[in-house]
Amino acid sequence: MSEVRVLIWGLGAMGSGMARMLLSMENVRVVAAIARRSEKAGRDLGEIAGLSPVGVKVTTDPEEAFHSKPDLALIATHSSVKEVAPQIKHALKEHADVITIAEEMAYPWAASEELSNEIDRLARKQGNTVLGTGINPGFILDTLIIALTGICREVRHIHGKRVNNLAPFGPTVMRTQGVGVTPEEFAAGLESGEIVGHIGFRQSVMLISKALGWEIDDIVEEREPIVSRVERKTKYVTVAPGNVAGCRHTARAYRGGKELIFLEHPQQVCPEDEDINTGDYIAIDGDPPVKMAIEPEIPGGIGTIAIAVNMIPLVINGPRGLVTMADLPVPRGLPGLIKNQ
Ligand code: NAD
Repeated sequence: MSEVRVLIWGLGAMGSGMARMLLSMENVRVVAAIARRSEKAGRDLGEIAGLSPVGVKVTTDPEEAFHSKPDLALIATHSSVKEVAPQIKHALKEHADVITIAEEMAYPWAASEELSNEIDRLARKQGNTVLGTGINPGFILDTLIIALTGICREVRHIHGKRVNNLAPFGPTVMRTQGVGVTPEEFAAGLESGEIVGHIGFRQSVMLISKALGWEIDDIVEEREPIVSRVERKTKYVTVAPGNVAGCRHTARAYRGGKELIFLEHPQQVCPEDEDINTGDYIAIDGDPPVKMAIEPEIPGGIGTIAIAVNMIPLVINGPRGLVTMADLPVPRGLPGLIKNQ
């Protein structure tokens, strides 16, 4: 890969992790970084990423950042198509390809057909590629499932389950998953929309069904509290026995009343406190049947950072327009590009 100039938009947990990974690689140059908070402006990106200075000053001004003429923008700011669309359009107008980890961008048509088509048109006009990816949605409960169907002569039903530990995450995740509240507060939070569970089931279902050529006419999602029997403690929250340790979120996709896809994502803090193992599981009822289990779970943070960075060569060389993980070649690691190997 000839040297790719990368801009990072958003320097939270994921964006700064992407900076650390990129700064350890050959043939990739981080040329600019955009933060929202003014405290980060003017600081060196290397320092923000916990490394030595690298000579890239963080800015809060996108115009200034794009003076560096990046080939590609990595966007790690928000979850919804609506929120990231202005950033994607800005990057496209500057002739940069885009990779974003916004969950809804894994299959953006599920959230907003109009905005997705607008992004697609602009990307084609500018000769650029836009991809939404991540650990989930983006990989475990969609791309990996699609790849596993590749050895099936027939696929009748798909069951995917990701059991993960939320303990490493911060206050925003605790709030949106309802961790630490009473079961009554959980019910009220679901009602008000403050507790949302997993973002991305519709995207994963649509990605799988589009890849397999399945028409889906109904998707039913359910969220219920995971009530803890014991006290569970993380850096940010203590869950008393009888209170909520997380959210068991499921999605079932149907055609003509027949279930074709069942996805489960029970997310909770410290599952080990009740002897629950984490893991990623895929079961395909097909010919042949396929059963895959990865234990423990693939870590969500590292996995997201890596897949966003590893997709860079495939996006740079990808087809014009708004694409999905199912439109690009199989994802792969880039160990040959890590410095000093
Ligand atoms: P975070 O809250 O740690 O970081 C987000 C950062 O973006 C913050 O530093 C914020 O100040 C910055 N930001 C927001 N708007 C900005 C703007 N206009 N300009 C510049 N910076 C801006 O969150 P995170 O863990 O880094 O995740 C980022 C997003 O990616 C979240 O929405 C998260 O839900 C999503 N995500 C998706 C996946 C996946 O599997 N698809 C995985 C992890 C995270």
